[in-house]
Amino acid sequence: MSDAKDQLDRYVRQIRFAPLGEAGQRRLLASRALICGCGALGTVLANTLARAGVGKLRLVDRDFIELNNLQRQVLFDEQDIANNLPKTVAAANKLRAINSAIEIEPIVADVDHRNILALCDGVDIILDGTDNFETRFLLNDVAMKLGIPWVYGGCLGAEGQTMTILPGETPCLRCLMPEPPPAGATPTCDTAGIVGPVINVIASIESLEAIKILSGHREAIQRALFTIDLWDNRVRQVKLDALSDRSACPACSQREFPWLDGQRGSHTAVLCGRNAVQLTQPDGQRLSLDALATKLAGVGQVSRNAFLLRLSVDDCVLTVFPDGRAIVAGTDDIAAARTLYAKYIGN
Ligand SMILES: [Zn+2]
Repeated sequence: MSDAKDQLDRYVRQIRFAPLGEAGQRRLLASRALICGCGALGTVLANTLARAGVGKLRLVDRDFIELNNLQRQVLFDEQDIANNLPKTVAAANKLRAINSAIEIEPIVADVDHRNILALCDGVDIILDGTDNFETRFLLNDVAMKLGIPWVYGGCLGAEGQTMTILPGETPCLRCLMPEPPPAGATPTCDTAGIVGPVINVIASIESLEAIKILSGHREAIQRALFTIDLWDNRVRQVKLDALSDRSACPACSQREFPWLDGQRGSHTAVLCGRNAVQLTQPDGQRLSLDALATKLAGVGQVSRNAFLLRLSVDDCVLTVFPDGRAIVAGTDDIAAARTLYAKYIGN
């Protein structure tokens, strides 16, 4: 598939869409996107943009795949679960089979203030496939600081919303919402559940906003907060005119970026919708999964592959990644999870 004509042939229906044309397609092929989160929204974003021919997709996600993900996370299947694959690795395998002519870069990591600048290196757009406001405020900070367009998206139940942010031109997430909603104040996918179709709608809108921006058509983006309730059949476009002066926004006006500076946000967290806790380690120390597997043989049931090690012990399952990060399933008590980690993995 290296022949230049073949490369454009696969996009012929998209090229025929007049506002894009061949020039727009060539721009897409030369562009790079960061997809933050490779779950429900992220897999639809990656699937759509790989097929559309965005030249490089960098996927980042901290998690592995569970059975209850398959209801809505369109790039995964039962074999990926049997293989204990991290989400971005499984997604990259599928995407390469869909489009071998573009570059896919899967990264298994928790997005935080220490790695976000490196993750954004060289990208033309940031797409929100996350499930939490802490990460979204970090994305807003880095996008505003570096001047990279980003598209916010979120879903819960049968409702979803999305907003496109062009730094310096349109209101940002903090213009809309100065602070993240306090923990526990809003429903989560744990309490409200989620239906698959709303994710496809919101991620599809995010994808086309990305295609507009990457193909050079910023004039076509949606300059409103788009919200939809697919169960009650309601669609709204909330005008952002009242926010357009942006002078009261700490990010737009004062250029304060506390999530990026590391003053806000903590990534040791109880994971949404799971009886699980994520523990992160201070600074990029690498663990040898081989050495750990040897150490833990006899402690509990251990399995491992190139990407992670899993230990079942004391009614919990610890999944450990080479960067020292762990997801402890079977508890939502952070202290209990830390105790297990200290006992079996080390400090
Ligand atoms: Zn702002």
